[in-house]
Amino acid sequence: MSHIITEQNQTVDQRHQKKSRLMRQLKTQMPQYEGILVFFDRVLKERETYRSEFCKFLDPIVGGDPAQYESRLKKGIPLLDRNDIRFDNKIMAGHLGRLVKILKSGSPNKSAGSSDTFRQMKNLHLKTFFDKNPFSGEAPLSGLFSSPVSGDLMNFLVSEMIHPVLSIYAEKIKDRIDFSQWNQGYCPVCGEFPEMAALSGDSGKRTLISLACGTEWQYSRVKCPFCENENQQQLSYFFIENDEQYRIETCDQCGQYIKTIDLRKKTPPVDYEIENIITIHLDMIAREKGYSNAGPFRETQPPNPSMTQVYH
Ligand SMILES: [Zn+2]
Ligand SMILES: [Zn+2]
Repeated sequence: MSHIITEQNQTVDQRHQKKSRLMRQLKTQMPQYEGILVFFDRVLKERETYRSEFCKFLDPIVGGDPAQYESRLKKGIPLLDRNDIRFDNKIMAGHLGRLVKILKSGSPNKSAGSSDTFRQMKNLHLKTFFDKNPFSGEAPLSGLFSSPVSGDLMNFLVSEMIHPVLSIYAEKIKDRIDFSQWNQGYCPVCGEFPEMAALSGDSGKRTLISLACGTEWQYSRVKCPFCENENQQQLSYFFIENDEQYRIETCDQCGQYIKTIDLRKKTPPVDYEIENIITIHLDMIAREKGYSNAGPFRETQPPNPSMTQVYH
């Protein structure tokens, strides 16, 4: 028993150390992101602890029948059925409590001082929340606060509770499955839309990335993953001058955007979770231009760089 626990702790530490090292490097390269990287370093460490606790809880449950998976994928149905996912209130309560401590001890946006998000954490009532069934009713988490809570904070907390659990399921099944025939814009494992995309190879083939569960799959480069629009007059992308490793791909039919990393212009290693954090300025630019996405956490002030727009 103690042997298993030690092994799991080592894995947690190793996973986190790798990310931590990368974030330390980035802090020196991108001092403007130092605050948020310090904050996310703590969040990611907590996420690994939570995952490890949940792995022990789920271990005998996760598995499934690969034949059944194939038939679901053929019909365009993601592999994970939300109704089959097991949650554990005790583990979740512990995670939420520790997340709240991290949030209360330091906002990634201290200097801006304009956000009420972290001040709202003072009104948190954990007990009220867990007296209810957290994810079955409307507006989960709303019972935690004595005043209205910003959508960003709510999204952040809900994502941090659910996504690590999805990623455990995904990890157990995705290596056994061939996603090459999957041609949907949503994730073949968890059904969420991707938060990021990456371009690679000579032809710049596009990979979509579900940060919710960590799955990656190929998708047409000239089609909107959100509404399947293929009208090239409505699909375009922006990039910041002198920073062409990142793009914001937009669709004027559905008004959504996706942050895209051009791996041909990027020095490895690339960690998509961290990339998502250090490109929050791109989310702000996309939002300013009226586009939206379902991203989990957007709280920093936008810079005002010069932008270039390109149509496909
Ligand atoms: Zn997914
Ligand atoms: Zn679209």
